[in-house]
Amino acid sequence: MGIQLDLPTVLLLYKTALVAGALSIFHVSRHSCRPQGLRPLAGAYLLLAIGAELAGRGEYLILPDWLWTHGSLLLGTVGYCLFWAGVRALSGRRRIPMGWLALVPAGWLVAGIATQFPLDNLLRAGAFHVTATAALVGSAHEIWRDRRAEPLPSRALLAGFLLVSAFIFALRLFYIATENASSTGFARAFYVQMFCHFGIALMVSSLSSERAEARLERMAQTDALTGVGNRHWVMSRLPAQLPVGSAIAQLDLDHFKRINDRFGHAAGDRVLVAFAECLRRQLRDSDLLARMGGEEFLVYLPDVSAGDATTIAQRLCTAVAQIRLTENGEDIPVSVSIGLACVARAGGTWADWLSAADHALYDAKSAGRNRVAVVHERPA
Ligand code: GH3
Ligand code: MG
Ligand code: MG
Repeated sequence: MGIQLDLPTVLLLYKTALVAGALSIFHVSRHSCRPQGLRPLAGAYLLLAIGAELAGRGEYLILPDWLWTHGSLLLGTVGYCLFWAGVRALSGRRRIPMGWLALVPAGWLVAGIATQFPLDNLLRAGAFHVTATAALVGSAHEIWRDRRAEPLPSRALLAGFLLVSAFIFALRLFYIATENASSTGFARAFYVQMFCHFGIALMVSSLSSERAEARLERMAQTDALTGVGNRHWVMSRLPAQLPVGSAIAQLDLDHFKRINDRFGHAAGDRVLVAFAECLRRQLRDSDLLARMGGEEFLVYLPDVSAGDATTIAQRLCTAVAQIRLTENGEDIPVSVSIGLACVARAGGTWADWLSAADHALYDAKSAGRNRVAVVHERPA
């Protein structure tokens, strides 16, 4: 190999990457909408950098042996335990079990003081490598297990960097255990570790920004009062041409203005929330439900016969009429009128069929409200 990696230079690069990582993760934590785990992770990076620095100072005989050996092992093991806890909290808002976590470095410290094993370079390195490997494998597992609950693109790369880092530590551990560890080997290993820790910090920051973007997108597509999708969301979800065997319904609360006038706007809002919740409970996951504005909601039923769609709409109407809400001891009368358009013929955009549902809604209102009116044709 043309390039010679000398251990002091590589360790300097490794420590620099750790400090840069700590600063960047700390910076992300100050602006993140969900900063859980970021500060412990930044702290872990910093502890690992200080631990590596302490070990380096000791190697050059600046510090007494007992101080740098026990100190660097303690900082290294505390650092990796905190690292795992930070990743765990970052990935899935899990609480950090501080008590249990402290047991690992405390165990090494007690064993170290009792046997003085950290004074032996290989034993000390072995203890550090065991802890680091376990913490990194555990961290990769935490990131991977939440991939379905929160599918963000950075998860795979972050888990990858964590696993490569764990693999390198495990490989070194094997060389240490078989007494084949060389200084060049350590230099190479720490060079790869520098790369991995830099990559991990980068992916942590990228995960945080992907999370913020996903949150903004969710907010832009969700109705803030009821939590159901808004007009913008449903329009992006509806097929351009509604297929035969689907149905679209326009729902409008009856005399909602009167409810507001008589019981107040806050009571009106409670009715809207209960209405949306009632509809959500009645519908399947594949159905679309959205608040189009005011007290008007849209329901799209893919893959239903006209008869089933009518039954479902009727069921929604009955369920809404059974909503029980009171204001100052007085019952709030809640009912809905529904215009249902069953797509019986091919052709016609969703806007055409929605307009057909709107006409049917008008008929339901004229016929006395609290009922369903059905059409099977779109307007010519
Ligand atoms: P109809 O039976 O004919 O539908 O009568 P309506 O009173 O329900 O019809 P209209 O469309 O005139 O009234 C809708 C009312 O909904 C008017 C508006 O003040 C109220 N509204 C719109 N958005 C909100 C909201 O977010 N909260 C509350 N409390 N009221 C709202
Ligand atoms: Mg209305
Ligand atoms: Mg209304």
